[in-house]
Amino acid sequence: MLRMKVAPSANRAERIATVNFDFASQQTEEIACCNLCGRNLFIVLAKRDRYQYPIKTVGCRRCGLVFLNPRMTAEAYGRFYQGTYRPLVSAFHGRLIDAQTIQSEQWDYAANCGDLLAPFIEDAGFITLLDIGGSTGVVAQSLASRFNFQATLIDPSPSETAQAKASEIEIISGLVEEIDLAQRRFDVITLCQTVDHLLDVSGTLSRVRELITEQGLFFVDIVDFQRAYRKGSSIEGAIKIDHPYYLTQATIEAFLQRSGFRIVKVDYASDNLHVGYVCRPDTRTSVLPTSLAVDNFFDEISQVKNTQHP
Ligand SMILES: [Zn+2]
Repeated sequence: MLRMKVAPSANRAERIATVNFDFASQQTEEIACCNLCGRNLFIVLAKRDRYQYPIKTVGCRRCGLVFLNPRMTAEAYGRFYQGTYRPLVSAFHGRLIDAQTIQSEQWDYAANCGDLLAPFIEDAGFITLLDIGGSTGVVAQSLASRFNFQATLIDPSPSETAQAKASEIEIISGLVEEIDLAQRRFDVITLCQTVDHLLDVSGTLSRVRELITEQGLFFVDIVDFQRAYRKGSSIEGAIKIDHPYYLTQATIEAFLQRSGFRIVKVDYASDNLHVGYVCRPDTRTSVLPTSLAVDNFFDEISQVKNTQHP
């Protein structure tokens, strides 16, 4: 019985080893201030991720923001996304996952996203769409054809955007915080399955706020960290090197309000993991999760096992 229980995780460990990613040799940086509230008192929540890389995850004692710390630098993440990310995720799941194979689930995802946004888009007279971190362009293409948008896609990974090049979408390679878009504004901005991968959530959301038209619409979704660790009954199992941030409904809602967005609809995805937010531009408010909510959050975390289940 014991052998049967051990075998699957041993195979997984072997598959991950063949990816040949040497975490110890990557350049990392210590994060001194919480990206949400600016404080510097953190609780260590886990010391490994689901791939068993020795990465620390911390939670901010004041606001409950969870993030990797120290974490790889922007350059190290750039190299990671070029050569390691897809092979690593494939090794973890034991099947090939790449820009090609994700297309069909991306079309389903895009259709759901369109259904969620439709009531806010129909008759609004929106013309332009900006999809940030749009990868292979499926979401941008789907929304553009359904709502007749002129679509622009920004993504840092050329191997992903290569798939989108055949379409009529304008493709910009790079990071949204660094690209010069001059005076351009967009009616609809989407940040799909991307926010957890960012290195600066606050900075990116502020940039989105600058890029959106006054009556515009913004969609963002998170992997809800609470749903993730509850689902697997493990903190470590919910941590992965490719996600610098582990947002919860409390922390993303605070991020959005502090960046100048008003949430007009919340959507629980059927995967029991993602939570989507439809937002309008608004004035900034300096809210944070309450101390009681943060206490309860860390109390719950302390009761979840810190090891990964096979
Ligand atoms: Zn904080």
